[in-house]
Amino acid sequence: MAEVLVLVDHVDGKVRKTTSELLTIARRLGEPSAVFVGSGFDAAKETLARFGAEKVYRVESPEVLEHLVVPQAELLAQLVADKAPAAVLVPSSPEGKEIAARLAVKTESGLITDAVDVQAAGDGSGGVATTQSVFAGSYTVSATVTKGTPIVAVKPNSATPEELAGAAADEVLDFTPSDAAKGARITESKPKQATGRPELTEAAIVVSGGRGTAGDFSKVEDFADSLGAAVGASRAAVDAGWYPHTSQVGQTGKQVSPQLYVACGISGAIQHRAGMQTSKTIVAVNKDNEAPIFELVDFGVVGDLFAVLPQATDAIKAAKD
Ligand SMILES: Cc1cc2nc3c(=O)[nH]c(=O)nc-3n(C[C@H](O)[C@H](O)[C@H](O)COP(=O)(O)OP(=O)(O)OC[C@H]3O[C@@H](n4cnc5c(N)ncnc54)[C@H](O)[C@@H]3O)c2cc1C
Repeated sequence: MAEVLVLVDHVDGKVRKTTSELLTIARRLGEPSAVFVGSGFDAAKETLARFGAEKVYRVESPEVLEHLVVPQAELLAQLVADKAPAAVLVPSSPEGKEIAARLAVKTESGLITDAVDVQAAGDGSGGVATTQSVFAGSYTVSATVTKGTPIVAVKPNSATPEELAGAAADEVLDFTPSDAAKGARITESKPKQATGRPELTEAAIVVSGGRGTAGDFSKVEDFADSLGAAVGASRAAVDAGWYPHTSQVGQTGKQVSPQLYVACGISGAIQHRAGMQTSKTIVAVNKDNEAPIFELVDFGVVGDLFAVLPQATDAIKAAKD
């Protein structure tokens, strides 16, 4: 069975959920082989094996991560040439998409970004069939790669991670980035201040606040914490300085696709929808029953978020006790 390369997304060996999703998808297409760059492999191995990685190609050289994404694209291009994989899967993060684009150019292959589903093509061609959600979620596009090795950047939450033991047999690669790949160097990096909440783009539940919060996100945060959710914000809230720009959901912010998205005091402008419309279940709390957000919700609550959210928080806490 042909290998399917999965670029591992991790921090010092702590493997992110997107990688277990990609390994689950890879098993539909062939035999998953993880590509692990950096330190912490011993910590990562158990997770990679648990989600079905048969092999792990490792590069330990710190040089590869010191120079932004170009060396990783070079490494993957080398693996594509050596292993002739059936496909290469990367997370559809800004970094993942840049790696995928560079890899596509280097290998003269077709690239699909922001896939929300990936399956083996049913025509016996050995190719991949992908689904993308485009134009603010108003169109669903089915696409296949017709040239080279399919390179697919997959959005978080596009698959439910399924455990299936793999050998995770590791092979340390002898890889040195070219001089051309070392044109930019990271001079300093600081860990983000921990909030204790899940990462916005990976969270299964996102609770977002908008201008309707009037700058007080405490009720949104309390409700999010009762659900173990990430907190997002509309651009109006972010531009007003009420919440960090890194939390903005939408066309010019982050794209999220959780199981549950709760919009609180958000009107539902097209630019906001562009970042959350592919959420599986959408709930809105808004005091204006004509707010456009109600056009796309599965459940809507017409009411003041400062009255509704505390009651919902209490009810969830009571249900958990
Ligand atoms: C090029 C471009 C890019 C953009 N990118 C983005 C983007 O990425 N993300 C984004 O979000 N926006 C983006 N916008 C802005 C977007 O057009 C809207 O202006 C913005 O989304 C509005 O934010 P809001 O819904 O919080 O505010 P508003 O539209 O002002 O809506 C506030 C809502 O809160 C409700 N409300 C008020 N008080 C309460 C209360 N106490 N309880 C319950 N409900 C209450 C009101 O009824 C109203 O519906 C972009 C705009 C442009 C032009």
